[in-house]
Amino acid sequence: MIFNSVLRKMYAEYQSPIRYYLNFNDDFIDVNQLISRKISIEHVGNQCKSCGLDKPIFRMGFCQSCFYTVPEASPSIINPELSMAHLGKEQRDLEWEKKFELQPHIVYLALSGGLKVGVTRGVQVPTRWIDQGASNAIVLAETPNRYEAGMIEVLLKDSLADKTNWQRMLKNQNPEVDLVQTKEEVREKLSEEQQEMYVEDNKIWEFEYPIEHYPSKVKSLTLAKHPKIEGVLAGIRGQYLYFESGEVFNVRNHEGHVVEFTV
Ligand SMILES: [Zn+2]
Repeated sequence: MIFNSVLRKMYAEYQSPIRYYLNFNDDFIDVNQLISRKISIEHVGNQCKSCGLDKPIFRMGFCQSCFYTVPEASPSIINPELSMAHLGKEQRDLEWEKKFELQPHIVYLALSGGLKVGVTRGVQVPTRWIDQGASNAIVLAETPNRYEAGMIEVLLKDSLADKTNWQRMLKNQNPEVDLVQTKEEVREKLSEEQQEMYVEDNKIWEFEYPIEHYPSKVKSLTLAKHPKIEGVLAGIRGQYLYFESGEVFNVRNHEGHVVEFTV
């Protein structure tokens, strides 16, 4: 079967193991069912996530001009502390920013190849953690908007990483960390105002991915360097497809690329 479609990030369902789906225009593909089968992904064009034009994808699924103008790619997306909608100040599109930023956000601790702190919208739980390939996560604080969550993250960045160590995550190498204990330790660093947003519930989220054998070495392939990628699908974690060769392909990083996907 051949599907010709723009790539979008995989849709994930929180089950054990996680279930993944690819959304190819009108077809919804169950990716777990493709494990052990040969697939190929060939780059045949582009479709910017905003303007829809066949222009080279610059970052986050957008062409260069959209990347620098659309609210979905503004600097506060990567750095929540730069959010300004709570002040009524526009960055790129105030109405969009108000909707996006002025909603409950959470600050979390996750194990994804290492211990990290992160911010996401409340509605993105637990999707955000699955997208990062986290093995465990715990909610640290819940804030009324994106800015407050970003401020907590900034405060904790000194002592905790804020990026996923993707190489280690893909090899399933996690440090021995007690998330509850770490959460209690970082509580002390919060200001009085931030302490009020601290979440007492110490539920530890666990994620199991559809992969049996983790590779000892991983090599990430991009369509820019390898316009046609093929191999036997060995498993899935985060937004990565693993091939039996130990090569991996990040679906989300290729949003906006039009591909011919063959099973
Ligand atoms: Zn565009």
